[in-house]
Amino acid sequence: KMNTDIGQHILKNPGVAQAIVDKADLKQSDIVLEVGPGTGNLTARILEKGAKRVIAVEQDPRMAAELTKRFQGTPAAKRLELILGDVIKMPELPYFDVCISNTPYQISSPLTFKLLATSPSPRTCILMFQREFALRLFAKPGDKLYSRLSVNAQMWATISHVMKVGRNNFNPPPQVESNVVKIVPKRPRPEISYEEWDGLLRVVFVRKNRVLRSGFLGTSSVMDMLEANYKTFCAQNDILLDDGPVEAATAAAEEATTVEDMDVDGDTHTADADADADAEEEEDLDDDLPDFFLEEADRKAKKLAGNPNRKRKGKVAELVRAKVKKVLEVDTELADKRARLCDEGDFLKLLYAFNLEGIHFN
Ligand code: SAM
Repeated sequence: KMNTDIGQHILKNPGVAQAIVDKADLKQSDIVLEVGPGTGNLTARILEKGAKRVIAVEQDPRMAAELTKRFQGTPAAKRLELILGDVIKMPELPYFDVCISNTPYQISSPLTFKLLATSPSPRTCILMFQREFALRLFAKPGDKLYSRLSVNAQMWATISHVMKVGRNNFNPPPQVESNVVKIVPKRPRPEISYEEWDGLLRVVFVRKNRVLRSGFLGTSSVMDMLEANYKTFCAQNDILLDDGPVEAATAAAEEATTVEDMDVDGDTHTADADADADAEEEEDLDDDLPDFFLEEADRKAKKLAGNPNRKRKGKVAELVRAKVKKVLEVDTELADKRARLCDEGDFLKLLYAFNLEGIHFN
């Protein structure tokens, strides 16, 4: 009996299986990584295509046993290497040219980022995902599904749609529809820090319908985080900081700006509509993310919450605020743009300008 909890939906339509493998444009010299081979429907076709070697990573020992049995004694068996284990927990993936996977949907996000972080990067990846996830992977600015996942994945790879696959092509049929996507990592890899880039995107996509000014200056948790990072940055670079209390008058003015900044985004829609939009976003906020990023964020949040000085805004807070304001309003002129309309170029411009000011997201 299948264990559907770990996403064991076997692809039963041979036409779809063949199309997935054909899309990979395999060469005789290719080493193919297959994640979750199950009973081997894709594996058989990859081997038939003449790939030099197939490394299949399967977590379920019963599936692994079936796979071994299927190819035992066939000439292709020599080209098949089976690794029993969880692909996400493997500290390092073996070398491969192409990845093919009817991906277990619960590992869509961590697998994608693991593949994107692999060096040297694979030539191409043909992956089947749950439709929502696939659509978000290649969504463009302004699309409803444009999200941190979209910007992040598209920073490191060119992503295109291959085909839709209805749920009845699987046994048992999953709850959701699927899509096959092609992920071609950019070569050479863009030379930016993944942590900084993702850190910036985390900030702006928490409320992707708000203008950037409100996402930064109107969100105290963000400003606290940037202040903490700025202090670390200064300490590491021997920059002395005066963090004394701000003059009463300036502090009052600061408070006033905060309120004003938060209102900027209130154009025509009502507070209710805003709340709805936020609630909707809230739902898909975190399933974008590999667990280790979430854990890191939790750790940072706890550290900030545990700081007894958190409420006291000193001179450094004021300085960081002025820097952020300058970056948004003067250096990039993006203060009034909404995150959901910003493209990769906008985010790169922002990150560059922030970093020049010593403002870091990690
Ligand atoms: N490739 C087969 C097919 O297309 O018919 C099976 C696909 S099924 C959706 C996903 C397979 O991935 C299952 O065999 C499951 O046991 C395996 N799997 C689930 N999580 C995994 C993980 N973290 N690492 C490796 N394999 C995993």
